[in-house]
Amino acid sequence: MARVEHSPWAIPVAQIASRAGQSKTIDADFPAPSGIGDDIVGIKEGTPVHVRGQFDSIVDGLIFTGRLVAPFVSECTRCLKPIDKDWPVDVTVFFPYESAAHDTVRGGKGEEVEIIAGEDESEDTYPLLENGAFADIEALIRDTLVESLPLQPLCKPDCKGLCSQCGADLNEEPDHHHDVADIRFAGLEALKAQLEAEQGK
Ligand SMILES: [Zn+2]
Ligand SMILES: [Zn+2]
Repeated sequence: MARVEHSPWAIPVAQIASRAGQSKTIDADFPAPSGIGDDIVGIKEGTPVHVRGQFDSIVDGLIFTGRLVAPFVSECTRCLKPIDKDWPVDVTVFFPYESAAHDTVRGGKGEEVEIIAGEDESEDTYPLLENGAFADIEALIRDTLVESLPLQPLCKPDCKGLCSQCGADLNEEPDHHHDVADIRFAGLEALKAQLEAEQGK
């Protein structure tokens, strides 16, 4: 069996999981798990995702509240400019003690550790490993980022995109336009020239 503490996403929480009312702060980088988006819109596997927040122990589990900041690399769907920016997502998730059901004795420091197994699981619930010794945040990072990444990223919310006729970047040339009357105007010029020519006869 693979030792869970060797997982880069396993956070040791045994100290606070032993009883309610404790907390542990996290402020560190974790590698981005695989499977977040694709090559165009996604987070590349292994790039550092910064996780800052805290675990708070309550009677039946650990609550994690914090913020993930991932390096988001993509391109704007309107102007095709590369996007390279930090992507922050706030999370609140629950790690219930149910996997520690056979380990009730360990909490014997005055306060009783109440184990409630099989509570209705919400989708923001993740398991603790090794009888509550570790919180594995791999799935948490993946799910959170997959859900929050934009399907159609923009370099800025009001990106003007590219000119549909010549491809010029309309953000850089706000006055750029093509005179749609060009052709008709050319026709008038020709007519004018023709009239002048006739007058000159
Ligand atoms: Zn853009
Ligand atoms: Zn143009």
